[in-house]
Amino acid sequence: MQTFRTIKALTQCLKGYRTAGLRVGFVPTMGFLHAGHRALIAESVARCDITVVSIFVNPTQFGPNEDLDRYPRALEADHDLCRTAGVNLIFVPDASEIYPPGFQTYVEPGPVAEPLCGAVRPGHFRGVATVVSKLFAIVQPEVAFFGQKDFQQCAVIRQLVRDLNLNVEIVTVPTVREADGLALSSRNSYLSAADRARARCLSRGLFAAHAAFQAGERDSQRLVDLARAAMTEVNRLQYLELRNAETLEAIPELVERPAVLCVAAYVGTTRLIDNVLLTPPPTALSDHELELVSRAIGRQATVAAEGPQAL
Ligand code: AMP
Repeated sequence: MQTFRTIKALTQCLKGYRTAGLRVGFVPTMGFLHAGHRALIAESVARCDITVVSIFVNPTQFGPNEDLDRYPRALEADHDLCRTAGVNLIFVPDASEIYPPGFQTYVEPGPVAEPLCGAVRPGHFRGVATVVSKLFAIVQPEVAFFGQKDFQQCAVIRQLVRDLNLNVEIVTVPTVREADGLALSSRNSYLSAADRARARCLSRGLFAAHAAFQAGERDSQRLVDLARAAMTEVNRLQYLELRNAETLEAIPELVERPAVLCVAAYVGTTRLIDNVLLTPPPTALSDHELELVSRAIGRQATVAAEGPQAL
């Protein structure tokens, strides 16, 4: 495993791999790695010849009163995790390597970045879209891996890749959770023991809504209310919203298409996010689809009665 601090050294090394026809997978992170990151790395190692992990606490995605300065760092432990997980290259740039003096171009995402975290963290997804675009340009991976835990981030990046014709496949990896349901996050390290225990109520609420959905509940308000009822132990519920899983648009009344229930809440002074997918089974057929099915059934009946020459 090799570690690079400069773009020049990293790209020189990657050029050699690319010339050799090797498939490069990329896992962008902010470090303080845990089993959630490890799941992304494992997916890359399974699908690609070379896995690159970046560790970069990106200043442009933090607001002025957010936790940029105290974001947890543990570079040595991160190296150990990467080594045992099968990472080939680590990229650990300084902020000045990514944003040198004179830097002035940003990537501005559209409506998909407006609700949820976009509404309460102005500029956050602009910073994310900018740094991910730059990292894609530097690493030029065939595939990049992101966690479902940051659902809106995945949606923003998929849109970015489509809109800017970036030649990279985006893979979303399911959220890795503690045994009690809490989604793993580097920010969980901020939680006191008491807050850690209270943080469980977020996933408990999401799972309650998921169970009701599985049992047939489709009323979006009732699903949200059910989740909220379990989330009483948080200090402040910042948002709890049911959204279209593809566009992140609001869902009016009934959940008829894949949806995502997203939450952001403060537990103590720590802001946590989580989400759960609600995907209706593909049973509802349109009139046109029903007609096609009945025509096919009718034709099968004809074939059974008259033999295959009826086709
Ligand atoms: P971060 O270091 O928090 O910026 O996260 C880097 C990547 O790891 C992002 O794509 C996250 O969505 C992903 N990630 C973080 N936590 C988890 C988790 N619990 N399960 C799966 N992926 C995660």
